[in-house]
Amino acid sequence: MTFLEINGLTKLFGGLAAVTELDISVDQGKIFGLIGPNGAGKSTVLNMISGTIKPTRGRIVFNGEEITNFPSHQRAQRGIGRVFQEDILFENFSALENVKVGLHLRSSNNFADVFFRARSTRIQEKKLNEIALSILEFVGLKEYSNEFAVNLPHGRQRLLSLAIALAIQPQLLLLDEPLTGMNPKEIEVMLTMIRSLREQRGITCMLIEHNLKAVMGLCDRIAVLNFGKKIAEGSPEEIVENQTVIEAYLGTEEDDI
Ligand code: ADP
Ligand code: MG
Repeated sequence: MTFLEINGLTKLFGGLAAVTELDISVDQGKIFGLIGPNGAGKSTVLNMISGTIKPTRGRIVFNGEEITNFPSHQRAQRGIGRVFQEDILFENFSALENVKVGLHLRSSNNFADVFFRARSTRIQEKKLNEIALSILEFVGLKEYSNEFAVNLPHGRQRLLSLAIALAIQPQLLLLDEPLTGMNPKEIEVMLTMIRSLREQRGITCMLIEHNLKAVMGLCDRIAVLNFGKKIAEGSPEEIVENQTVIEAYLGTEEDDI
C-alpha cells in the first residue's frame, strides 16, 4: 500500500488551471520534494493534501483511506501535519502556548474549541506542558518557551511553526518552503531536524523548497511542476540531468539548477 497516493488531482481557480491531472505516490519514511518555478502550483498541491483547498477533481488516499473531501482537522487527526509558507503563529502567545494549541488540534474539531480548552482547562495542564516542552526541546527552542512568538527572530519562528506541526504527532509532514529567509546556519539546523524526524521518528516528509542545493541533498525523490503539470519525477541525480527540467528553469531569475 502506498502511504500517500494522489491521482488526477486538479485545481481550477476560475479559468486558471493551478494544478492539472497530477499523479504522485509517496512511500512511507521518504523525503519527497516538490519543486518548480513560482506559480507552478506547488503550494496548491500541499493545500489540497492538508485540506485547506478543495480539489476540483482527483483523489487523495492517505494510509489506505480516501481523504479527498475531509476537512483539515480530520486530516490532522489522521497524522497529516503542515508547516505553512508564511508563519502562522499566535503572535501574542508564548512559544509554549503555541505548541499547546497544536497539541489540542490533534483532538479538537475547531479553533474556537482549541482556544477555549487551551486557556481554561487546568486538569491536564501539567502533562500538556511536559509534552509541549519536549517538542520545544527537540526543535531547540526550550529556552525560549516563555518568549512571545512575535518576539522570536524569523529563523526561530520557523522552528516554532515546525514544533506546532509536530505537536499533532504527524506521520506525514508537509513543509512549504521551510528554509525561506533563513541564514546558512539556520538552514543547516532545519535540514538536520528534517533528517532526524525521518530517522528517529519515521516521519515522512513532503516539502516544497526553492533552495535546490538543499532539496537535492535532502530528498529521496523529487517531482517537478511547471504550469500545474508534473514535467519530471525521479531521484535528485535524475532530476538535475533532466533536459525538460533544465529548460523549465531557464529564464527564471531566482532558481539556479
Ligand atoms: P507555487 O506555490 O508553485 O508558487 P501556487 O500553488 O501558490 O504556486 O499558485 C499556482 C497558481 O494558482 C498561481 O498562478 C496562483 O496565482 C494561483 N492561485 C493560487 N492560489 C489561488 C487562489 N486562492 N485563488 C486564485 N488563484 C490562486
Ligand atoms: Mg508556493
